[in-house]
Amino acid sequence: MSEIYDLVVIGAGSGGVRAARMSAATGAKVVIIENRYMGGTCVNVGCVPKKLFFYASELRNHLHDAEGFGLFNTLDRFSWETLRDNKSNEIKRLNSIYENILEAPGVEIIRAKGRILAPDTVLADGRELKTKRILVATGGWPFKPNIPGIEHTIDSNDVFSLPEFPQTVVVVGGGYIASEFAGILSGLGAKTTLIYRGDLILRGFDNEIRQYITKQMTGKGINIMTDIDVKEVRLLEDGRRQCVLDNGSTIDADLVMYATGRKANTEGLGLEDLGVELNKDGSIHVDACFKTNINNVYALGDVIGTPALTPIALEQGMVFVDQQFGEDQRDMDYSLIPTAIFTQPPIGTVGLSEEDAVKENPNDVDIYCSEFRPLKHTMSQSKERSFMKLVVRRSDNRVLGAHMVGDHSSEIIQTLAIALRLGATKTDFDRTIAVHPTAAEEFVTMRNVSRSH
Ligand code: NDP
Repeated sequence: MSEIYDLVVIGAGSGGVRAARMSAATGAKVVIIENRYMGGTCVNVGCVPKKLFFYASELRNHLHDAEGFGLFNTLDRFSWETLRDNKSNEIKRLNSIYENILEAPGVEIIRAKGRILAPDTVLADGRELKTKRILVATGGWPFKPNIPGIEHTIDSNDVFSLPEFPQTVVVVGGGYIASEFAGILSGLGAKTTLIYRGDLILRGFDNEIRQYITKQMTGKGINIMTDIDVKEVRLLEDGRRQCVLDNGSTIDADLVMYATGRKANTEGLGLEDLGVELNKDGSIHVDACFKTNINNVYALGDVIGTPALTPIALEQGMVFVDQQFGEDQRDMDYSLIPTAIFTQPPIGTVGLSEEDAVKENPNDVDIYCSEFRPLKHTMSQSKERSFMKLVVRRSDNRVLGAHMVGDHSSEIIQTLAIALRLGATKTDFDRTIAVHPTAAEEFVTMRNVSRSH
């Protein structure tokens, strides 16, 4: 009789790898199945390569800024090939690190597509694996609307391996990826237009932050078009693309990138035959223990439709392992998720937006804001400015939200998230000694209420 696994994980992305290796570390017999790349979206076509491109794009800005400090550079050549290939080498290195951290605690790796045959059986590479539990952690996949000519566009997977760098780009969408890539591509020298169907990019974030970043991005030369959508993409004779907009006008570009969201990656897993219940958006429906409606079949990460962020998948993996193999039967806590958007300048945010705070605490909200020119830019020629904001509940002085647009905001927000988790009040912020001269010190020196609700 074949061996019985304690856990079969399908998908070696952030959540799957974490769950597999931490389960194996408890002594469980674990196999992980992956048919694409080790490390999933984050490592291969997401957070990590995006951040490397973001650095490249920012460096170019730094070179311009340097002149005000008497450092003169020549920016006569940008080699896309060097950036792309160095990035790919780094990703290869990370892929093998992922393999090593799986193999160290004894996780078996199968490089194939996994298909669930029954609640205790997974088919992979011609083998029928018998198991006590199955964990689906297959992540998400870019979604593009089905408009004429959509095949002439790329998505956020393709952008990492472009054969050549475009001179002109249209980015469609107004979420995380569209905003980040509009900045990256523009910073690297492409004439960039962002087309968003809504009235203000980054829906769901604090409105003032959305307005502020729009102004900053526009100031850097990105053409942001709102309340408009692309209804067709044409391939022109010279190989360029033409976007036909819903007001009848057209816009030509070397490259059209769609960043219109991601969908759960559930195809070919056998979920339908098994009768696994899906949510309306196609993600897998699970309970607080990541269990689907089918016994022994679990799912976590982007495939279950919770916030599609690597740290969420990692934490879900930890909670799952504790629930299944540990003594700590805790649930996942989705409150106060800090997040950064690597626009230029970046956004860091944690807690409630002004709008949500007012909705939840009517007539009980004070807003503290600070808007300034960072010290560095008093010497550089850059017009970039920074904005910070604290959302405070007046009755108990509790800080409900912290938001920033500006250099280092992604780093600053991580520590502020600890303060908010600990229930910090505005008085705690005020009594914290500042670090000077920094931008972060503004968070502890905002004395005057900007407005009250
Ligand atoms: P988002 O959900 O953030 O944004 C999708 C955007 O596409 C929205 O502006 C949406 O408009 C628009 N859109 C959706 N459907 C259509 C359509 N049919 N036609 C035109 N526009 C459309 O998705 P992303 O793809 O940007 O990113 C996916 C997820 O990945 C994010 O939600 C985030 O969780 C994660 N991510 C995190 C990053 C980080 O932590 N820094 C970086 C990148 C991604 P509307 O607002 O009107 O719905």
